[in-house]
Amino acid sequence: MVIGLTGGIGSGKTTIASFFSEFKTVAIYNADTEAKKLMTTSKSLKKEIVTAFGKEAYLGNHLNKAFIAGIVFNDKSKLQTLNSIVHPAVKKHFQNFIKQNNSKDYILYENAILFESKSNLNCNEIITVSAPLHTRIERTILRDNTTKAQVEQRIQNQCSETKKELQSNYVINNLDLESARNQVVTIHNILTLRRTLI
Ligand code: ATP
Repeated sequence: MVIGLTGGIGSGKTTIASFFSEFKTVAIYNADTEAKKLMTTSKSLKKEIVTAFGKEAYLGNHLNKAFIAGIVFNDKSKLQTLNSIVHPAVKKHFQNFIKQNNSKDYILYENAILFESKSNLNCNEIITVSAPLHTRIERTILRDNTTKAQVEQRIQNQCSETKKELQSNYVINNLDLESARNQVVTIHNILTLRRTLI
């Protein structure tokens, strides 16, 4: 069973995923982290990125994140190009991860652009992490040492929170951490115990 975990920038997806990771019968897959890893480790992916964005896309063996971000956050068509290269590779990698973790209760698939990338269609159920816009902006500025304008620009590339929530089975309100943790426990109990009740 694949449970999609999504939410806007700074809503707290990774924080919530870390609560789920305390349950040893849950396998966690972070699409963004794995995509970044694959962009450095997969030779074929590297080749495609260099063809599309030029040699400057890499600094030695490392992805030149600032260079790529500078292009894709200012040009939607370039973002689409990057996604069309990276998404199929991550999808394949994730299929292998599912096979390797088939003994787990479920796989929590964290993806900031779950709906935008249509990955929601491959999930059995979906959890959206929610927090007020101003809180998300404040958290992201603090975490990434970035500006309000830059965070707002990144938010514009994502679909609205309401749309995400309406298409989800569960919404976690991530305001204080203790309440968020309790919501995680409740959802985990529903996901695991209901099988024994039906
Ligand atoms: P992104 O999509 O940008 O990767 P995210 O949704 O994964 O973000 P996190 O990285 O989990 O969000 O959280 C953003 C920042 O806010 C982090 O520094 C995290 O420690 C902090 N944070 C998350 N939840 C809370 C909370 N309930 N109270 C206070 N700080 C929080």
